[in-house]
Amino acid sequence: MKIHEYQARELFEKKNIPVPRAYLCKNADEVKKAATNIGKPVVVKAQILVAGRGKAGGVKLAGNSEEAYKIADTMIGSVIKGIQVNSVLVVEAEKAAKELYIGFTLDRAKRCVVFIASSEGGVDLEVLAHTSPDKIYREEIDPILGLHAYQAREAADAIGLKGKTANDFSSIAQKIFQIFEAVDADLAESNPLAIRSDGSLVALDSRLTLDDNALYRHPEYKQVDEELTLIEREAQAAGLAFVQLDGDIGIIGNGAGLVMGTLDVVAHFGGKPANFLDMGGGSNAESVYAAVKLCLKQKNLKAVFVNILGGITKCDDVANGLVRALKESQVKIPFTVRMVGTNEEEGRRILSENGIAFLDSMETAAQAVVKAARQ
Ligand code: GDP
Ligand code: MN
Repeated sequence: MKIHEYQARELFEKKNIPVPRAYLCKNADEVKKAATNIGKPVVVKAQILVAGRGKAGGVKLAGNSEEAYKIADTMIGSVIKGIQVNSVLVVEAEKAAKELYIGFTLDRAKRCVVFIASSEGGVDLEVLAHTSPDKIYREEIDPILGLHAYQAREAADAIGLKGKTANDFSSIAQKIFQIFEAVDADLAESNPLAIRSDGSLVALDSRLTLDDNALYRHPEYKQVDEELTLIEREAQAAGLAFVQLDGDIGIIGNGAGLVMGTLDVVAHFGGKPANFLDMGGGSNAESVYAAVKLCLKQKNLKAVFVNILGGITKCDDVANGLVRALKESQVKIPFTVRMVGTNEEEGRRILSENGIAFLDSMETAAQAVVKAARQ
């Protein structure tokens, strides 16, 4: 479970990791007050449980309290990356001479914690792993022995830090690792951990993800459904299993395994799934109708792949639901249907009569949808 930046920051602060002065605010008036208190330029940061807020407009610099008010007035209540912003963190703006990355995560395959550090912070670690993998320092931490002081010093050296900055870095590494262990995190990071012009360090972003299996040991962090995007929330209400992804091909199927397989096949042929949508085993015309409607609420869709394995679910029911949803829909994007199993012939007849194309195999259908999305 992800927790908010302000919650992670609080734990960092308790451990004496240097963090900028900050106030959590629920409306623009509170933001103005906070910025006045700070009395310097501030950064207004949307408290939403997604990464990459900076690029999505969720992190904004304000020169004074008036500006902070205006930014907050627009930001609070707006939707960033599909998630509604309910609160912002107002922090004292820091001048960063350089941005580093520091983090701990789990390597499940190796059954240990990995310590990750880089001289190139501020960018997404996944992006960095692609563009300059050699700039990422990675060290395995024995779960029983923990992080050794020499490992922390080695990391500082590996990313080119010297003197007091290197010492501070090692000490911050130890502290973040202690937090990682104390809250049973599976990710604890600061990106960026900034170097000020005097060589001192400050954690400009604090991020913690807790291990769901250990949540019972941390009742102070209640499971919140704030992680859900608006459309995921709608899906939940409609009894559909929907997960937002970041591609442009809508995926609908019946059964979680089939949908997972569909995502893989689409990706295999070079497509990018926009979502996971399982309308469940034993689906009927109604659930297909609801699933298509929901799927089409996504913006930026280029094509949709409906993959049905008839069993308890009957293909003719699916076809009827699909036809109805498509007739009503204003969105005109190509649909690729693959449908096999119970009442297959009848289902196909209904699709044909309504001019909806279908294919036999999952592979050819996936190739077709990827091609359709490219056109
Ligand atoms: P994220 O995009 O969700 O990871 O949010 P961050 O908290 O990392 O903010 C995005 C970017 O804004 C960071 O990578 C920094 O470059 C910048 N940033 C955030 N806070 C400050 C600050 O106090 N001073 C400066 N100079 N930059 C900041
Ligand atoms: Mn960040």
